[in-house]
Amino acid sequence: MLFRHSFRRHRDGLRRCPACTSRLVCPTEWEPEGDEHWSIDLRCGDCAHSWNRVISDSRAARFDLELDCDVDVLQRSLRRFERERMAADVETFVAALARDLVEPADFAL
Ligand SMILES: [Zn+2]
Repeated sequence: MLFRHSFRRHRDGLRRCPACTSRLVCPTEWEPEGDEHWSIDLRCGDCAHSWNRVISDSRAARFDLELDCDVDVLQRSLRRFERERMAADVETFVAALARDLVEPADFAL
C-alpha cells in the first residue's frame, strides 16, 4: 500500500470502462501525442471493450504511478496466495508423514 492512499480518486473516467463501467481497465499502448499529451489505447478486462483516450502529460504520469500501485497490490496478493498454498502443501505432507504414507522410495530418482 505504498501509494494506495496517497492518490485522490480521479473522476475523469480514465480507469472506468465506458461500455460496462468496470474498473478493470488496462492500457495496451502508449504514445506521445504532440508535446504535452499521450494517446493511450485502453482495454477492459471484463468485457474486452477497447478504446483510445488522449490525456495530458501530468495525468499520464499519475496514471503510470496508479498502475505501479496496482502491480504492487497484485504482487502482494500473489505472494499471499503462494504462502497459503505452500502452507497447505506442508500440512498435507505432515499429515502424510503422520500416517506413514511417505517412504524413502517416494523420493528416489
Ligand atoms: Zn468493460
